[in-house]
Amino acid sequence: MIQQHRTVAILCAAILLIGARHDDAPVETTEAIFLDFLDADSAVGVIDSGLYAQYQGQDRAAWDRKRRDRHQVLMAQLTAIDPLALSPDDAAAVAAMRVTLRDHADPSAAFGSDADVPKCSDAGRGDLDYAALRAALVGCFREIGSRLQFENGTIDRGTALQLLHDLEESARRKALFDAFRPLWSALNGNNEADSPYRRLIRMAAADAAKNGSQVDAAARAIGVSTDEVERWLVQILDAWRQASEPGMVEPWDYRHAIGEANRLLAKQIPAAALVAVNDCFYRDLGADLGKLGIVYDLAERSDKSPLAYTDFLARGRRVDGAWHAPVARVVGSYPVGGLFSLNELVHENGHAVHISAIRNRPAFMDWPDTLFDEAFADVSSWSVYEPAWQRRYLGTEAPEPMSLRALHGNVVLDVA
Ligand SMILES: [Zn+2]
Repeated sequence: MIQQHRTVAILCAAILLIGARHDDAPVETTEAIFLDFLDADSAVGVIDSGLYAQYQGQDRAAWDRKRRDRHQVLMAQLTAIDPLALSPDDAAAVAAMRVTLRDHADPSAAFGSDADVPKCSDAGRGDLDYAALRAALVGCFREIGSRLQFENGTIDRGTALQLLHDLEESARRKALFDAFRPLWSALNGNNEADSPYRRLIRMAAADAAKNGSQVDAAARAIGVSTDEVERWLVQILDAWRQASEPGMVEPWDYRHAIGEANRLLAKQIPAAALVAVNDCFYRDLGADLGKLGIVYDLAERSDKSPLAYTDFLARGRRVDGAWHAPVARVVGSYPVGGLFSLNELVHENGHAVHISAIRNRPAFMDWPDTLFDEAFADVSSWSVYEPAWQRRYLGTEAPEPMSLRALHGNVVLDVA
């Protein structure tokens, strides 16, 4: 028996030595592959957004091949890591990578080329899975939401929402609201049980039951239960109800009803001033947006997302001992200016500054979490509703109650 034990011990030592020669820092190696995967995924993302036809000299097909390859290797590496052999720091790093990867669908099931990405016209197909149906509905926003028909011209969704605060004539506001109808019917048909949107909601519920929901994750992030969050949301809506006029408001008049501050400040916030005001504010906060190398996708383009967003273009990484900071990409369309647009642009730049500042080991080079990310961006963007801020950056101010109504009126739409 003793001899047998010794043989086993020698064998184990040999395996450990082979393992050490093979890769004595498996988590470090895995993290490097993790970064390469995320960067390839971001490259596909920027090409799909329509901003670039190629990124760093490679086309979509090349980046897609790379992200599939890196993902496959990454998953094999993660599977091979023995969790019991990890230091607490490495265990946390592996856990963080797994969380990030849950948010990135397996690219082997993703769309290999532009032509494979579902279009809005695919939304009625019953054979699409959750990811494909989601992509088809995003396609509806891009294809229809960028080109709403209004007063003999076209207008994008974000600009239409801005204008609903500003237009003085109710009939024009109703016409603008009605311009959304083609988008709504592409998403939700006639609200029949098997409309694309209702099928998507059922798939989202099934996915949440299996993998957990974003709502649960948000509640966990602040250490409360989902039920508690729901109670807060109801309290917020109730407080808004108490603070609002009791009469009914038509949906096309709602933003006008809360938008007095937008109209009062409209002249001070022309489209041409947005970027300069935003830059100046962040410089005062200590963030020089130009020096951060943020890539801005603000020009109008027919295939552009009508929803503003910010994402990584490249993750931060150490190269030959020198730190290369992350590069953020901001997408938005602001052809008419105004307080609503300014809030959104400052919000997106809050995200851009946040992710530009992430400096950590590769496993933690992702958005930290959804809830605090959004809250972080709102800390700077909600400043635009402060009279002192408006005085400093716009040269005039709206009364505080008027500004807060403009701010919270849009917040309660999210709450609802
Ligand atoms: Zn945001």
